Amino acid sequence: MKGSTVRDAAAQDKDRRLAALPNRQVLADGVYEQIRMLIMNHGIAPGARVNIDEIARELDVSGTPVREALARLESEELVSRLPLRGYRVTELLTLREVDDLYALRLMLEPPSAAKAASAMTDARAAALETELQTCPSAPAGADYEAYKALTAHDTRLHEMILNFAGNSAVEQAFARTHCHLHCFRLLYNQPFGEQTIIEHREVVAALTSGKPGLAKKAMSSHLETARDRLLSRF
Ligand SMILES: [Zn+2]
Repeated sequence: MKGSTVRDAAAQDKDRRLAALPNRQVLADGVYEQIRMLIMNHGIAPGARVNIDEIARELDVSGTPVREALARLESEELVSRLPLRGYRVTELLTLREVDDLYALRLMLEPPSAAKAASAMTDARAAALETELQTCPSAPAGADYEAYKALTAHDTRLHEMILNFAGNSAVEQAFARTHCHLHCFRLLYNQPFGEQTIIEHREVVAALTSGKPGLAKKAMSSHLETARDRLLSRF
């Protein structure tokens, strides 16, 4: 009798913890998104120290979800940890860093597009078309919220192509650069959304035609145009 009471109590305790999980996750995600938006909108200036207590007060939460969010943002290199002194927001990419980043992308992505074209299947072509449909036109606004969808699509499309090329080391190297996030942070109010979407359609058309040379050329041209657009804004 006593044993079953102990078991019931343990089960109830487990239920309570499980029931609390989704809310806790929603809270953690919400805090992460809000701090991320502050950084992307330069609400916290590049290079500035992050005041954990102040953010917790403003968002009306405890320090725990703020610290969890900062750990996630550190993995995206939006903040960096200061030894024993919390976090600071990372600096924006310099012209040289953008140029280097695109040089790396040009080494990795056009040959991968060629491989992905050689390995094209009906299912993969359908997945690429579906991805294009997630962002059929450029966002109307010029704020972070509006451009978030375009950047998320941009990231997913490039990751999908690298995935179809089948080299996981290349996929990981690309993911570690967080290139879309950091270029977007530099220039989220760019007027080039529509152009990006047109170029993506060209890349997908070349890939689904199954012609490696064409796919390689379309990817190179997309990356070179994107790089020049960005560099012209410095
Ligand atoms: Zn792109």
